[in-house]
Amino acid sequence: MGYELETAITYLPGIGPQRAKLLEAELGIKTWRDLLYTFPYKHIDRSRLYKIRELTTEMPFVQVMGQFRSFEEAGQGRKHRLTGHFWDGEMFLDVTWFQGIRYIKQSVKVNKDYILFGRPSVYGGRLCVNHPDLDSPESTALSKMSMQPYYTTTERMKKAGMTSRSLERFTSSLFSKITWTIPETLPDYITERLHLMPLDKALRAAHYPTTADELASANMRLKFEELFFIQLVIMTYARRRQQQRVGQRFTRVGELFNTFYRKYLPFPLTEAQKRVIREMHADMKSGRQMNRLLQGDVGSGKTLVALMVMLIAIDNGCQTCIMAPTEILAEQHLQTFRTFLKEMPVRVELLTGNVKGKRRKAIEEGLQDGSVNILIGTHAVIEDNVQFRSLGLVIIDEQHRFGVAQRAKLWEKSQAPHVLVMTATPIPRTLAMTLYGDLDVSVIDELPPGRKPVRTLHIYDNQPEQLYRGVVREIEAGHQVYVVYPLVKESEKLDLKNVQDEYVHLKEIFPQYNISMVHGQMKPAEKDAEMQRFVSGETQILVATTVIEVGVNVPNASVMIIQNAERFGLSQLHQLRGRVGRGAEQSYCILVSNFKLSAETRKRLQIMTETNDGFEIAEADLKLRGPGDLEGTQQSGIAFNLHLANLGRDGQLVQLARDTAAFVLDADPELQTQENRLLHRHLMELREEHKDWSQIS
Ligand code: ADP
Ligand code: MG
Repeated sequence: MGYELETAITYLPGIGPQRAKLLEAELGIKTWRDLLYTFPYKHIDRSRLYKIRELTTEMPFVQVMGQFRSFEEAGQGRKHRLTGHFWDGEMFLDVTWFQGIRYIKQSVKVNKDYILFGRPSVYGGRLCVNHPDLDSPESTALSKMSMQPYYTTTERMKKAGMTSRSLERFTSSLFSKITWTIPETLPDYITERLHLMPLDKALRAAHYPTTADELASANMRLKFEELFFIQLVIMTYARRRQQQRVGQRFTRVGELFNTFYRKYLPFPLTEAQKRVIREMHADMKSGRQMNRLLQGDVGSGKTLVALMVMLIAIDNGCQTCIMAPTEILAEQHLQTFRTFLKEMPVRVELLTGNVKGKRRKAIEEGLQDGSVNILIGTHAVIEDNVQFRSLGLVIIDEQHRFGVAQRAKLWEKSQAPHVLVMTATPIPRTLAMTLYGDLDVSVIDELPPGRKPVRTLHIYDNQPEQLYRGVVREIEAGHQVYVVYPLVKESEKLDLKNVQDEYVHLKEIFPQYNISMVHGQMKPAEKDAEMQRFVSGETQILVATTVIEVGVNVPNASVMIIQNAERFGLSQLHQLRGRVGRGAEQSYCILVSNFKLSAETRKRLQIMTETNDGFEIAEADLKLRGPGDLEGTQQSGIAFNLHLANLGRDGQLVQLARDTAAFVLDADPELQTQENRLLHRHLMELREEHKDWSQIS
C-alpha cells in the first residue's frame, strides 16, 4: 500500500491549491509521505492545568484557565506594549504583548474563558507571561491532549495564517486517512536484533505519542533508520570503489621530495606532520586511489604537508593542483609555495578569474604539455575549464565549502587522481563518519613547537577605551591587529557594526597608524592590494569581514578583535581566532559583544574563552546547534530532532548504524538475499536521490 503515500497533499481536508503551494515552497511538502516525514520539533505536555499561584520561572510551558478582566497599553515605539490582567478565580497574572497589539485588541475578549499557554517569566519583579497561545476551552481536544506536537513554520507561512496548529490539523487528518499499516523498510532480523519499534508505530508515535518514553523509542527507530541508510549508501560505494578503483601507483619518493626534505625544509616537521605524510604515501603507492580527509586545527601546518605530498606526485611524473576557496587564499598559497620551492625546479602557477589573456593562455598550455607541476587556483576555475596532461593529485583546501557534488566534477576530469581534502574545521568523528564516510581520515593533532595558546577574553561593547589602549600597546610592541565586523556596510534592519563606517571611525581614533580594509564587496585586485599592505607590515590594523576567516597567515599579527561576536557561530569564531597565535609572541582574541545575550550565545562565547582545542569546540558546536536553537526546546526537555543536525548527540547511534550496515554488507555484499530485498529496493531509491554520490563511485 506504500504507493498511497505518494498521494498529493491536496487530497487532505483543508489543503487547497493555495496552501499546497505554500507547503511545497516553504517546507518541501508535496505528498502524504512528505507530510508524514515532517516531524514536530518538540512536544509539550498539555494534560495539566495550573493555578497561577503554582507558577515559577523555572517552569517550561504551562496552561492556565481563566479570563481577562482588563487591558492596558503603555510605552512608545519599541517599548510599546499591551498588558492583559488574567484572573484564574484566585489570582491575577500579567500577560504582555509587544507585537501584534492591534490584532490582540480586536480578537481577545474580556470576561471570556481562555486556556492560556505560555512560559512564565519575570518583568519588573512581577510574574508574567509574554505572547501566550490562547485557546477557547471548547476546543477540548487541546486540553485533553497529553503530548501536543509543535511543527516548524516559516515567516511566510505565519503571514499566511499557517501555524504549527494548522500543521497539527493536517497530520491528524492524515493519520485518520492512513487506515492501513505503513510498510516496513527494515528487515525483521534487524528490527528484532536491535529491538526497534515497527515503522508504522514509530511514525504515528513520532507525531502523536502517548508517553515521553514512547516518543523516545519512536525517535530512536526513525533516527536509526535515517543514519543506517546513509551508511549503507556510503559503504556500498566505498567498498565497490576499494575493489574497482585503480589509482596511479606512486612508488617513488624521489629526488624532489628528498632534496626538499634534506635541504630546504625551513624547520623540522612535527611528528604528526610526518605521520600523515606517511599515511598518504601509503595510500598513493597502494595501487588504489587515495581519497583522504586531512583534519588539522588552524595553524597545524597543513600547507606544508600538502606541498610535500605534491612533491611525491611530481616525482612520479604527475601534475598536481590545489584548490582554495578564495582568491586571497589562492594567492597566499602561491607565495608560500614559491618561497618554499624557490631553489627547486618546480613550476608553480596560479589560475583565478583574474588571470586572463596571454598569461592565462601560457598557463593553459603549460598544463596541457605537462610543464606546470603545481597549479594553484580557486574552486570555480579549476572545476570548470582546465585540462591537464597528467593530473595525479588534487588537493582541496578548506573542505567545508566544497560539497560532494563538486568533488564529483573532478572525477570526470581525469582518470582517478589521488584526492586529498584538507579542512581546518575539525569535524567531529560522528559527523565525519556520516558525511564523509567514503573518505579515510588523517589527523594532525599537534601544533608546531613554540606556539603559545591564544588568550581569549569576552568583553562588552560599552568600554571601548580599554580595548583601544590594548591595541596601542600591542602595536607599539611591533605587532599587528585584526578587527572583524559582521557587516560590510550599514544595514537598516540590523543594529550591528560595519566595516566601512568603523574604518572611518578607527582612522579618527588611531591617526598615528595605517589601516587596511578588506571585505567581500571590493574588487579582487583592490582587496589583494589592501591585504598585501597588511602582510608586508605597511599597515598595523586590518579591518575586515569574515573574508579573512580562512587560512590567511600573518604571523606578526597578535590581536584578533571580533566585534558583535554574538553574531558568529563557534566554528567561525575559532577560525577567526586561528589567524593569530601564529608567531612566538603571546596573542589575544577579544570577543566584543552586546550586553543582551541569549543563554546559548553566552555559552558559545564562554566556550571560546575556555578552550583552544578545535575538536572540543566542534563537538560543543554540534551539541549547541540543531533543535536547541528553537524556542523552548531546551527547557521542555522533551525535544527530539529527526534530522542529521543532531549528530552531536547521537554519536552512539551513528556508530550503531555504521556497525549494522557493515554487518549486513559483510554477509550479503550485493544485498541479493530474500531477507534483504527491502534494503536493496530502498537503496536503489536513495541512489536515485543522491546521484552525486554515484558519480563518485
Ligand atoms: P594551517 O594548517 O592552518 O593551514 P599553515 O599551513 O598555514 O596552517 O601553517 C601555519 C604556520 O606554521 C605557517 O607559518 C607555517 O610555515 C608554520 N609551520 C608549519 N609547519 C611547521 C613546523 N613543523 N614547525 C614550525 N612551523 C611550522
Ligand atoms: Mg591552511
